Amino acid sequence: MAAQKTSKETRQVLKIRAAVLRRRGGPLEIETLEMEGPRDDEVLVRVVASGICHTDIRYIEDWYDESEGPLVLGHEGGGIVEQVGGKVKSLRRGDHVVMSYQSCGHCTQCRRGRPFDCRYMSELNWGFQRLDGSNALQRSGVKGHFFGQSSFATYALATERNVVKISKSLPLEMLAPLGCGLQTGAGTVMNSLAVPSGASIAVFGTGSVGLAAVMAARIVGAHPIIGVDVIPKRLKLALELGATHAINSRREDVASRIGKITGSGVDYSVESTGNDRMYELSMELLNPKGTAALLTGATGPAHLPGGRKAISIVEGDAVPQQFIPKLIALHRKGLFPFDRLVKFYDWDKINRAIADANRGSTIKPVLRISKV
Ligand SMILES: [Zn+2]
Ligand SMILES: [Zn+2]
Repeated sequence: MAAQKTSKETRQVLKIRAAVLRRRGGPLEIETLEMEGPRDDEVLVRVVASGICHTDIRYIEDWYDESEGPLVLGHEGGGIVEQVGGKVKSLRRGDHVVMSYQSCGHCTQCRRGRPFDCRYMSELNWGFQRLDGSNALQRSGVKGHFFGQSSFATYALATERNVVKISKSLPLEMLAPLGCGLQTGAGTVMNSLAVPSGASIAVFGTGSVGLAAVMAARIVGAHPIIGVDVIPKRLKLALELGATHAINSRREDVASRIGKITGSGVDYSVESTGNDRMYELSMELLNPKGTAALLTGATGPAHLPGGRKAISIVEGDAVPQQFIPKLIALHRKGLFPFDRLVKFYDWDKINRAIADANRGSTIKPVLRISKV
């Protein structure tokens, strides 16, 4: 099949539908917007499904400053390539893709194969514009390009750097949410911490990121695997997905339970709650030379005693084009059953999906946006 190329001369304006954030706290309103067609290095993706990540929710509830202007969020999109820019080599119209975080491709870290440490990480993922300052939704007075996608929309612009081609025989709707939270949780255990077989680990927070960490800990053979949360339903699921022990931090003393389980502390901890006490415990309960992985953007103290370390992790140190296929292969073997976390919503129910995730009654909401 011939690639459908577009150039500057033929660039068109598309009408899309997108869930727009105009007020802190929401609700998001689905509106018709005008979007530029893809530039030379971009692809136009018809979004089939999009996960809702904790970061989207925090943005709506806490971080959004209305003076930024209206925004389109969403950064766990999956879809079908409809158009490719003139310089795009690895993708064709009709390809099925999962979208992930964006990176520049030319800074020192990107050239070293470490896009998760890209110098322009914040500009490209939270800047709501391209690196050159342009914005494809300008005509409608709205900003997009969130994580190089803004997938709460019928169409998204992405690049070769943040899409992962997947087989057309795979269930695209189910795989859409692999691009952020699940990749982060699993990548933290498998890449950043490289937890060895037999090491002990505590996972603070068993939402989608924490449960991905639990599943990955089981895959690498960690033992014991201790899940800590306040929601009984999530703790029960943690036990089903690989945790050997579950601690309800609202009802039990976490430090004494972990002391009883391991006889000391843990070799590794993963902190995904953002709760001050859990943040402290994730470091206090480490064995000497142990490592705490902080996933909420928090940094640890400069020095911890006994060779202990706390590291702040972005996207699980994962290169999407390598790690997402690995997660898909593990999922197909039944070893990474993240489908147990997923609940689908029609996309006009986006505000209900967000409310359910906020309450903890849904772990990983996925919006159905168009048909495959
Ligand atoms: Zn870069
Ligand atoms: Zn995310």
